[in-house]
Amino acid sequence: MSRDRVRCVDCREPIPSDARICPHCEAVQPSPLVDAGIVVAGVFAFVFGAILTLMTVGTTRLFGFVLIVVGFGLGVGGYTRHLDRQAGRRAR
Ligand SMILES: [Zn+2]
Repeated sequence: MSRDRVRCVDCREPIPSDARICPHCEAVQPSPLVDAGIVVAGVFAFVFGAILTLMTVGTTRLFGFVLIVVGFGLGVGGYTRHLDRQAGRRAR
């Protein structure tokens, strides 16, 4: 909710929302943009993999199937990370 109440991922001290490095313990803070990038990359890999799997045969098809699995993992993983961080902020 309140975007100015960001806490360090490491020491849990409040830090400015635009701070990339914690002023207390100097831990690098994960950016929401990174999560978004992971999800977007996952969706792209998933769609590309689906196209390859449907349109091709043989090794390329196998490659497409791997892309689907990787894309799905990236998308779900990135989204879960995002939810985890929101839950963590609300709890404290
Ligand atoms: Zn810290």
